[in-house]
Amino acid sequence: MIRLSGVGKTYDDGTVAVQELDLDVSAGELVVLVGPSGCGKSTTLKMINRLIEPTTGTIEIDGRDVTGEDPVKLRRGIGYVIQQIGLFPHQKIVTNVMTVPLLYGESKATARQRALELLDTVGLDHETYGDRYPHQLSGGQQQRVGVARALAANPPVLLMDEPFGAVDPVVRVRLQDEFLRLQRELGKTVVMVTHDIDEAVRMGDRVAVFAVGGRLAQFGTPAELLAH
Ligand code: ADP
Ligand code: ADP
Repeated sequence: MIRLSGVGKTYDDGTVAVQELDLDVSAGELVVLVGPSGCGKSTTLKMINRLIEPTTGTIEIDGRDVTGEDPVKLRRGIGYVIQQIGLFPHQKIVTNVMTVPLLYGESKATARQRALELLDTVGLDHETYGDRYPHQLSGGQQQRVGVARALAANPPVLLMDEPFGAVDPVVRVRLQDEFLRLQRELGKTVVMVTHDIDEAVRMGDRVAVFAVGGRLAQFGTPAELLAH
C-alpha cells in the first residue's frame, strides 16, 4: 500500500534527517516508527503526505509514485493526526469535525451527520459534546476529536505523530486500545510515530526502529524485535 524506497532527506541547512530508508506498509496494517528524539521519524511521516519533499528515493502509495502528484489531492486520501491537534477554538466540536468534508464540497447536512456519527465512533457522545467548544474538553477528549476529524474525509490511510503524547498514562493506554479496535474495525492503514517503545510494541503490527542519523535499525513484528 505504501512503499518507501531509498528515501533520504537532507534539510536546507545541511541536517541529514533520514538516510536510505526502505519501508513498506500493507493495506490495513499499523506500522509504528519508534526511536529517540531527532532520528527522523516525523520527517519520514511528513514525506508520506508530502508536507516535506524527500531529497532522494521514491514514495509509492497503491503503486503510484506520489512525488509527481498534486499534494492537495494526495492529502485527501491521507488523514493526519498530530499531538498539537490544533482544533479551531472558536468552533464547536461538531463544526471542527465537519471542516474538511465541507472543504471538499460535501453538503452541510451530510457533513454534520457524518461528524456526529464519528464523534460517537471515537467515544464522545455527540449529544453531550457536539455543541461544546474545544477548551471545554479534556486533553484526551480533544485528542479523540482530532482522530474524528482525520477520519471525516474517510481516508484509507492515517498518519499519526505522537497522537497520544499529550495525555496522562492511564488515559493513554485506554486511547491506544480504543484506537486499535477502531483501526481494525475501519480497516485503515496506519503509520504512527512514537518515542515510547511500550506503545510501539503494544500497537504495531510491525515496528520500524530508527537510530540516530535517520537510519532504520530494525523492522519487524514486535515478537521478532523482542527475540533479538
Ligand atoms: P523525530 O521525529 O525522530 O524527533 P525529526 O524528523 O523531527 O525527528 O528530525 C530529524 C532531524 O532533522 C533532527 O536533527 C531535527 O533537528 C532535524 N530537522 C527537523 N526539521 C528540520 C528543519 N525544518 N530544518 C532543519 N532541520 C530539521
Ligand atoms: P480524560 O479522562 O479524557 O483526560 P478528564 O479527567 O481530564 O478526562 O476530564 C473529566 C471530565 O471533565 C470530562 O467529562 C470532561 O468533559 C470534563 N472537563 C475537563 N476539562 C473541562 C473544562 N475545561 N470544562 C468543562 N469540562 C471539563
